[in-house]
Amino acid sequence: MPELPEVEHVVRALRLAIVGRRIVATEVRLAKLIAPTSPSAFNRKIRGSTITGVFRRGKFILIELDSDRVLVVHLRMTGKFLYLSTDDALPKHAHAIFYLDNDRRLVFRDQRKFGVMKLVARSRLSKTKGIRQLAPEPWSEDFSPVYLKATLAQSRRTLKTLLLDQTKVLGLGNIYAAEALFRAGINPFKIAAELSTKRIARLHAAILDVLRDAITDSSTSRINLEHANGFSYGEAFERFWQVYERAGEPCFKCGARIRRVTHGGRSTYWCPRCQRR
Ligand SMILES: [Zn+2]
Repeated sequence: MPELPEVEHVVRALRLAIVGRRIVATEVRLAKLIAPTSPSAFNRKIRGSTITGVFRRGKFILIELDSDRVLVVHLRMTGKFLYLSTDDALPKHAHAIFYLDNDRRLVFRDQRKFGVMKLVARSRLSKTKGIRQLAPEPWSEDFSPVYLKATLAQSRRTLKTLLLDQTKVLGLGNIYAAEALFRAGINPFKIAAELSTKRIARLHAAILDVLRDAITDSSTSRINLEHANGFSYGEAFERFWQVYERAGEPCFKCGARIRRVTHGGRSTYWCPRCQRR
């Protein structure tokens, strides 16, 4: 599943490829991708529009059109965009095809079929379900140490659980929650409300650092929209993981063995020495 840094990379790659292009026609082959809109209504609303920008809110990709509509896309587990020429064969699981005015096709491919697409009026965007509830963007002024402190103070959940809640703290999935807590030297099972102000400041800095590193890491340039199998989510960042998927291996800081506990299908990784309770 792509985490926020990877979605940001997809956004940047899309921006380079499709901004300024006009959508000549669309072909949706999986009705549930755009439900309750029908493929014909979707095509009617979108064809002839020019793409004016590509942005991100949380893990939602926002493709802005000159019609004052925004195509909101969530990749979920396996959704991917491909930017193909007319010569390229259409890959398997191609559920939506956008024919562009330069004879290219923007293809949405999704093996597991959990991805969603929705056309919304620009003025309604911030009220759209899923987007409305999101916590502030990590680099916005609203996501301050003061905000984080107030948010943690209200919760008796463990940090690990709370950090994954995108309505409280935005941007961390299972990988980056583990990495941020490691960098901050904080135990994942600590109760959110019990974290000291000093440690909250450290956690706040670690969250921004870990996301910034993941976004700027050069290995992420593997995201190439022109190759169907040119990248897979997660893979691009492995090199940079310090605790995630390193159970039993020595901690890079202290040499202790990284621990893992699996709960509800999700694994938590931490260093028992650097991240004491
Ligand atoms: Zn350690």
